[in-house]
Amino acid sequence: MKPENTSLEITKATSSTIGKVDFDNLTFGKYYADHMMICDFIDGKWETPKILPYGPMQMEPSAKVFHYGQAVFEGMKAFKDKDGKVWLFRPEENFKRINKSSKRMAIPEFPEEYFFSALKTLLKLDKEWIKSGDGNSLYIRPFAIATEAGVSASPSNRYRFVIICCPAKAYYSSPVKVTIAQEYSRSADGGVGFAKAAGNYGAQFYPTNLAKDKGYQQIIWTDANTHEYLEEAGTMNIFFRIGDKLVTAPTNDRILDGVTRKSIIALAERENIEVEVRRVTVKEIVEAAENGSLKEIFGTGTAATVAQVSGFEFQDNYHELPEVENPYSMKFKKMLQDIQYNRAEDPFGWRYAVEV
Ligand SMILES: *Cc1c(COP(=O)(O)O)cnc(C)c1O
Repeated sequence: MKPENTSLEITKATSSTIGKVDFDNLTFGKYYADHMMICDFIDGKWETPKILPYGPMQMEPSAKVFHYGQAVFEGMKAFKDKDGKVWLFRPEENFKRINKSSKRMAIPEFPEEYFFSALKTLLKLDKEWIKSGDGNSLYIRPFAIATEAGVSASPSNRYRFVIICCPAKAYYSSPVKVTIAQEYSRSADGGVGFAKAAGNYGAQFYPTNLAKDKGYQQIIWTDANTHEYLEEAGTMNIFFRIGDKLVTAPTNDRILDGVTRKSIIALAERENIEVEVRRVTVKEIVEAAENGSLKEIFGTGTAATVAQVSGFEFQDNYHELPEVENPYSMKFKKMLQDIQYNRAEDPFGWRYAVEV
């Protein structure tokens, strides 16, 4: 192993829980790989990161994260190719983004060297948890939380950066029905919508439950001011195919700058598929559905890669999308996965080799 682990303190797990895991019937998030990384920020600096056996963390009940939600996270995946080589996909984007999220939440930025040496060490120690085969991956969840004890409403002077990993299979395999938000909002101008702030998710659960009660798995979020512009699909970015053209909203302080989104824009441009990055109105999508020019809607994100939408509800009208041959959603999913699993050329330099 290269000297990347020299800056880490490693305590190896004495036994593995991998034997308990049925990799053919995985429930996402149920099992965690044997090791995790913990790094504390104390007295103005990040301490030496520790690799420890995965397990509970002790914290005071007054720790600020529990009261003020000062917490950010990332989601990324490690892939294993058919020769057993391990790859990450554009990890420097996740690294930059967690620090961008942290900055917005007044959490100190995490050092790049610690982030990458922790990732490499974890993937090496837990390489058996990464399964090859289409759709299989090790989902990596870095997060940072405010750990200072004390309920005074001010930023913490102690933080903890943690990385945990769990095996994943492809999810959202069947197309989802969605509803367009007309009452609730995910994010607002000047807010934290662009950050992967934990509270963005917590705030979505209730309206998403209401949508589920009506038979829709996800909400397409609209702008908070007018509810006229389509912004994101649940916890994913969103694309519309009108005719043979792709349309997606520009990122801004309400919309998360997804790695999958920008990778698909680059792939579409390479394929000479026209992409319009512009605001998309509910009105034009309803009209396009009615006149038949709306061919596809799909969400994009690391967890699902690409999630097809089968239809959408707006003002009590349900618009079923047509079945199209060779949908863009499947084409881009395959292209991305072929790059991620080292089955295709990587002209963009997106793959990141990990020595295991
Ligand atoms: C994480 C996330 C995405 C997808 O980002 P990727 O980098 O593609 O995984 C999209 N929207 C929201 C709100 C997210 O939190």
